[in-house]
Amino acid sequence: MVAASWKVYEGNAERHLALQADALADALVGLDTHEMEERLSSVTLADTRITLIAADGEILYDTHADESAMANHNSREEVMEARDQGQSIVLRRSQTMGTDTLYAADEVIDGIVLRLAETRTSLPYYLSSLLAPLALAALLAVALSAVLARAITRSVVTPLLQVNLDEPLESTAYAEIEPLLTRIDALRAGLVAQNDQLERAVSIRREFTGNVSHEMKSPLQVISGYAELIESGVTGPEETQRFASLIREESESMRVLIDDVLFLSTLDEGALGDSYLIDLSEVCRDVCDKLKPVTNTQGAEVLVDCPEGMTVWGATPVAMRIVRNLLENALRYGGGRVEVRTERKGDTIVLSVSDNGAGIPTELRERVFERFYRIDPSRSRETGGTGLGLAIVRNAAHSLGGRASVEDSELGGARFVVMLPAAREAKWNQPNRPET
Ligand code: ADP
Repeated sequence: MVAASWKVYEGNAERHLALQADALADALVGLDTHEMEERLSSVTLADTRITLIAADGEILYDTHADESAMANHNSREEVMEARDQGQSIVLRRSQTMGTDTLYAADEVIDGIVLRLAETRTSLPYYLSSLLAPLALAALLAVALSAVLARAITRSVVTPLLQVNLDEPLESTAYAEIEPLLTRIDALRAGLVAQNDQLERAVSIRREFTGNVSHEMKSPLQVISGYAELIESGVTGPEETQRFASLIREESESMRVLIDDVLFLSTLDEGALGDSYLIDLSEVCRDVCDKLKPVTNTQGAEVLVDCPEGMTVWGATPVAMRIVRNLLENALRYGGGRVEVRTERKGDTIVLSVSDNGAGIPTELRERVFERFYRIDPSRSRETGGTGLGLAIVRNAAHSLGGRASVEDSELGGARFVVMLPAAREAKWNQPNRPET
């Protein structure tokens, strides 16, 4: 850009000098050389050197030097060109001075040439003289903008860095980022809750694993104890048979425990298989029939009041497990009378198993649903309890979209109640998801 404007400026200067030379040469026409010299000596042009060159190249007049000391000018480009074409304009660059000289020459008459010369700074010189201040200015600008950018960035970023991400809503940094901080706070709260949940789940699982191995150790100890006795050969045939049947009993209780643990973990994983429409009353009658031998042995009286059409969505094994566990408990801890009922209350199917046993004290009504919690551990163990029956009942009820609780029974003992959402569709045995 500098070069372009320089070119325009130079072009103007050339035209200007050429016009001056023209006018001056015109003014000399018709004069003899003496008169020409005189006329020229009356002319002063600021910064412009005027030279009059004779036809033989000698200098007739020069404003800046002694004419006699000057060399013959016939071989000068501008002089030759002026004689040739009437006028000329030539720019001569000086190698050393960093200056250019612009010559405008006009032939006045008969080989006499009038030459005007103007010295001017050359473009490279001009540029190089500009370079240092320009570079300095650029450097200053860069430094200044760096400092400014730093200061501005810091002033913008500092309040952001001071935002306490643990308490984002306490920050007063910028009103503009409030929605972002609110979102961060919500995410943080969600993460904290999730983390708590995870930690709780891990600790429950750890405790559960510890309990399971503890529960397994006792039957195993008994089994290996009796086995060792039999192995040593000190037992008589009768004792051997007794020990063998004890070993079988302990193995059976281990099998039941493993069964319960596996069922619980299936429930925990939600891997229950497809859901079907099932009639809870049918399930109750089924389970009661299966447990008849136990009922009969105990001489217990079981009343089943289960009208048809108590349909719920779910997997049959899960529903059967709920009824079986409750009925077994009623037979185990009850006083010989049990009532199994299903009824519909609005959108809910209510299953209840009541007995006339000791019941469950109010303060323990939540605890009995915990894994491995037993009110009377020795009674539970004697009767083949694993301590997982009610935990399974509660988890299974949840998996069917319902809940389980315990209250006083009209029979005098405990009344376990499981409430499940009633199925609205009347279609049967179609695999589907439970209604939500
Ligand atoms: P368990 O295998 O010991 O029966 P559960 O989880 O089924 O384990 O029950 C937990 C505890 O609740 C039992 O050990 C027992 O003390 C008490 N319990 C369960 N059902 C009854 C009931 N019908 N009457 C009185 N106590 C009960």
